[in-house]
Amino acid sequence: MKIAVLSSGSKGNSSFIESNDQAVLIDAGLSTKRLLMKMDEVGADHKIIAGIIVTHDHSDHIKGVGTLARKLKIPVYIHEENYRMKADIFTNCQIKFIEKEFTIGNFTISPIPVSHDGTVNYSYNIQAEGKKISHLTDLGKATSLVRERTKDCDLFVLESNHDPVMLKEGPYPWYLKQRISGIKGHLSNSDASDLIISGQRTNLKNIILAHLSEENNDPVLAYENMVCSITEKDLDINVHIALQNKPLEFIEI
Ligand SMILES: [Zn+2]
Ligand SMILES: [Zn+2]
Repeated sequence: MKIAVLSSGSKGNSSFIESNDQAVLIDAGLSTKRLLMKMDEVGADHKIIAGIIVTHDHSDHIKGVGTLARKLKIPVYIHEENYRMKADIFTNCQIKFIEKEFTIGNFTISPIPVSHDGTVNYSYNIQAEGKKISHLTDLGKATSLVRERTKDCDLFVLESNHDPVMLKEGPYPWYLKQRISGIKGHLSNSDASDLIISGQRTNLKNIILAHLSEENNDPVLAYENMVCSITEKDLDINVHIALQNKPLEFIEI
């Protein structure tokens, strides 16, 4: 199994996960043209995508889903309430409602309910070839359910949205600062490293830090925060950064 994060952040998110000549996309929060360009850039073949899985109904995750699904003639896997909130973008799309574990070809996909302020909010475990990717963005709190469900993953895509000091001292209005740092907001750099070092992490070999804020974070800070934490715990894990404007090349597990 391998993953390329095509784009990550508040201006658009999408991850391409491939196993045995079949692929799934998690979210499509960019235009079809830009997504196809990013796939080309990393050598991801859009013809093998078997479905788009939606995490929640915020536009940075959902706005390109309908157009891409129609163009590639592939189904959209989405919770019914998220679909109802954005029904107009899904005209003529094949929709599959999800609530619990489901399969797409070789992939077994398990939704993990997370605390965030979309209508319904899911992170996902994606399993294939005996490996497991935990894909977690857009959550304000790493609950005990999240910790339990992700403890044995081989690769983590993990939100590391903001540095708390940069957020506090930054330009955002007070209400937005409250929203981002609240339990229905986004994980900070230290929330992300706490989640990693609180578990055993026997299988975990790669962490992709994702959904970094361009205003309230710095990729170097996010990277150093995670590397310091795992080094202190003597964990041998590669740390990668997913960015908004440059796709992250495939990582194979
Ligand atoms: Zn988002
Ligand atoms: Zn969101």
